[in-house]
Amino acid sequence: MAFDCLHQIEKPTRYLGGELGSITKDLAQVDLRFALAFPDTYEVGMSHLGLAILYHILNEQDGVAAERVYAPWPDMEAVLRQSGTSLTSLENQLPLGEFHIVGFTLQYELSYTNILNMLDLAGIPRRRSARDASHPLVIVGGPCAFNPEPLAEFIDCALIGDGEEAVLELVAAVRAARQAGEDRPALLERLSCIDGVYVPSLFQVDYHTDGTIKSIVPQRTDYSRVRRRFLADLETAPYPTTPIVPFMNTVHNRVAMEIARGCTRGCRFCQAGYIYRPVRERSPEKITELLEQALANTGYEEISLLSLSTGDYSCIEPLLKGLMDRFVQQKVAVSLPSLRVGSLSEEAMEQIKKVRKTGFTLAPEAGSERMRQVINKGITEEDLLLATQTAFTLGWRLIKLYFMLGLPTETDADLAAIVDLAARVKKSGRGTGGADVNVAVSTFVPKPHTPFQWEPQLDLDETRRRLTLLRNGLAAKKLRMKWHDPPLSFMEGVFARGDRRLATVLEKAVDLGCRLDGWREHFKFDLWQQAFSDCQIDPTWYLRRRGDDEILPWEHIDCGIAPEFLRAERDKAVAGAPTPDCRNHPCSQCGACDFDQVRMRFSTATLLPATEVIEPLPIPAEERFRYRLLLHRDGRTRFVSHLEYISVLERAARRAKLPLRYSAGFHPAPKFSYSDALPTGVASDAELLDLELFAELPPDSVQQALSRQLPEGMTVRSCVQVPSSTPSPSASIAHAVYRVTLPPGTQLPAERLADFLRMETLLVTLPRKEQTIDIRRDVVDLHCDGDTLLVSLRKGGPFRLLTWLLEFDETQARSFEVRKIAVVLHPEADTTLGTSNN
Ligand code: SF4
Repeated sequence: MAFDCLHQIEKPTRYLGGELGSITKDLAQVDLRFALAFPDTYEVGMSHLGLAILYHILNEQDGVAAERVYAPWPDMEAVLRQSGTSLTSLENQLPLGEFHIVGFTLQYELSYTNILNMLDLAGIPRRRSARDASHPLVIVGGPCAFNPEPLAEFIDCALIGDGEEAVLELVAAVRAARQAGEDRPALLERLSCIDGVYVPSLFQVDYHTDGTIKSIVPQRTDYSRVRRRFLADLETAPYPTTPIVPFMNTVHNRVAMEIARGCTRGCRFCQAGYIYRPVRERSPEKITELLEQALANTGYEEISLLSLSTGDYSCIEPLLKGLMDRFVQQKVAVSLPSLRVGSLSEEAMEQIKKVRKTGFTLAPEAGSERMRQVINKGITEEDLLLATQTAFTLGWRLIKLYFMLGLPTETDADLAAIVDLAARVKKSGRGTGGADVNVAVSTFVPKPHTPFQWEPQLDLDETRRRLTLLRNGLAAKKLRMKWHDPPLSFMEGVFARGDRRLATVLEKAVDLGCRLDGWREHFKFDLWQQAFSDCQIDPTWYLRRRGDDEILPWEHIDCGIAPEFLRAERDKAVAGAPTPDCRNHPCSQCGACDFDQVRMRFSTATLLPATEVIEPLPIPAEERFRYRLLLHRDGRTRFVSHLEYISVLERAARRAKLPLRYSAGFHPAPKFSYSDALPTGVASDAELLDLELFAELPPDSVQQALSRQLPEGMTVRSCVQVPSSTPSPSASIAHAVYRVTLPPGTQLPAERLADFLRMETLLVTLPRKEQTIDIRRDVVDLHCDGDTLLVSLRKGGPFRLLTWLLEFDETQARSFEVRKIAVVLHPEADTTLGTSNN
């Protein structure tokens, strides 16, 4: 994607590429181009660990280039459509249609319209029947691929289960087919021989007149069920220790470490708890070793320990203690996104608290003991209150509680129990110096491959009635509630248990303008309703209770769990009977393990070797050394916003291992100060940065250490040590000088320039903000020579001035080449930086 359209859009860093850790190969040297496509925006996709793992596995292969592509935001989509430009990858800006494989990850049912839209924006036919060997192979993976049927008409194949090994076999098959000159059907036959690969065209689905499925007929007798792929051991699994560090602040802005895969708690609503069995843990030694490398390579200030239930990890306490001891000096925080009541001891919570209090979230899921027995959430109210009391006592002020509404057998009494429980949690914090509780509620969506896959989902009216009941009940106790929009859950439910006939609705919805449905501001339920109506499909039919003998659309996908086990679990749910966790109880024979390669793998290490623990050094308060740096920004870093620029510099300084001084408090940040924000799209030879160190270093070595860690386009031009009393960069600058190169054919009328200079004030109204500002006040000097305009400004950038002088709109002005060429300092702040070119 060329940079020349980036001035027209809201968040250019979504499309820049070139981030630290990204891999751009010479395409002339590869024979297999693989697009890793995420059907949502960059900031969501870049937070997904699975795609990062595949990116590195694939790029480690000689002759294979894996590049990333994300769903464009509507502003970028409009630019692409208006200019007739294809959607491209970030690394080589290669049009999506020129890849051999386009692989989408399916994390959420409401991203399906983005897949169709992305294919469309690349000129790739949406339907597989319209594609041939000249088009990319379109594949999907991820949790929603366990029922890929709503996408069956659009995808060539789906990779079911753990993708780490299967993806390389898939690449080898595509390479072999290309060498043999095979057509698309022959390639698909070849792919169907890989364990875990589902090819929808090799199955024929027929329906009864009542709409239920009559038969799913395999086209080959030896390919009647597709069993998911299992990764035997997480310990030896690939992990990217040089992950990409985005310029922009993404949803999860940290090093993500999967400490375990799988969960055997057996919560009956949880699809992940079934499709990722059995539990496979990484050892604390391996985790620490990988994190050491990843932190050193990225400069991140936070690590996130991921698993379906992190607190269940066998060695959680020694792991946390070891990580805290090791990283506390670097102010690295540890976050545990999924906590289970009762799984964290007070000692573990003390550890987490040491560096930073990240959020404390607990998910009782249901309010009443009876309801929790139905869903097999084996926690008692006592457990919960003990955990919340400990958290409040340790200093957490806010606890978030997650509940589900509409679970099988739920009554109004169960909803009342949610209100009572939340109130008791709040009460558990009495006397601890302040305790607050937020309640988040989502609607239960029955998912394939769970014991509740046959259960009905609430319709919209009933969902709203129960939400109102809850909201009123909680409000009466002065508790806040957030909830998932009922139409979003409704749509999620339709596609989660949908079948191939939904293809026409998806196409229709995309044509009507549906995309980015997971974003509240873009979700258009009325257009979806129109799409269903136009296609004469009743969406509520997909939410009904499924018959015991009914063929389910995903019947031919084998997730590893025996169907009889799921049925027995469903019956036990109705009876309120528990199924204990096979982690510490006998195997309940769910079918996931073969007890040879595929089996539970627990970590047995207890403590990290003491010799490797780095004790934090006390930093004397009086040891502070201040440096002033002059930086240069050009190329893609022109489009990095000020906040993103701050993150880029802080992480670079951490990677450079500079002895940084930090602010105090729960969110320690390096003591940096900056000159005023550079307008997006403007290059600069004169950005000031002050930083404070706790050890004195020669300025040259500070300059070199930081320069080495900056992204392409950024350099440190000079560095001097300055007294602590020196005014901050923004207070030091008298004015900045900008050079504007006018595009060919653009003339600045001399009279207008003279008019401007004669004025003392010039008030203009900002179009979108309904605010009036004086654009003359901060102009110190202005002169034009041919196509070059030099502007000296006390504050702000030159775009509003250009807009007035040239009578252009601001978007046009922003397309000009603008460079900040110097800053002039107040005499008392002047150093030997060489900031001015005067
Ligand atoms: S097969 Fe047994 S041990 Fe393995 S995950 Fe299932 S219940 Fe647990």
